[in-house]
Amino acid sequence: MGFVEWNCPRCGKKNREKCNAWVYGSPIRNCKECNAEYFDRRWREIALEGVEPASKNAKLYLGATIAFFVFTCVCALWLIYDIKTLGGYPERLLGCVLIGMVGTIGCFVVLLRIVTGYEDRQNRRYYDESVKRLQNKSYVYKLIAYGYDVPEEFR
Ligand SMILES: [Zn+2]
Repeated sequence: MGFVEWNCPRCGKKNREKCNAWVYGSPIRNCKECNAEYFDRRWREIALEGVEPASKNAKLYLGATIAFFVFTCVCALWLIYDIKTLGGYPERLLGCVLIGMVGTIGCFVVLLRIVTGYEDRQNRRYYDESVKRLQNKSYVYKLIAYGYDVPEEFR
């Protein structure tokens, strides 16, 4: 899960919207305050652009999980060594251990989502929503008007 934030160019209010990690959804958004419509390229219309390639790459997340885990272990051992020999430790080192742990767990969760097929099922849901939006011709015209490259099959 994540958030996308932007300031409405019309009323200036900060909009904060929930999204999945890869920001799948319509790039045409509406301001929650004044309802003005804007185009936000960060959103990915996946029926047109496809899923984010990294979201299918189990090897990438396996590598990242191992790298974070090794980093965490090295920092933790260093921390233990410092406590035993110096009776204390630099705070930054504890920070590294915590960041390493969060990174390890985060990458491992994504890895599990990919290998169990959960990610694929989620993607299919987002894909279906995307196709449904694109069946609306006026929506497609709007995308084109905003400079979005829409393939022939959806025009
Ligand atoms: Zn606004």
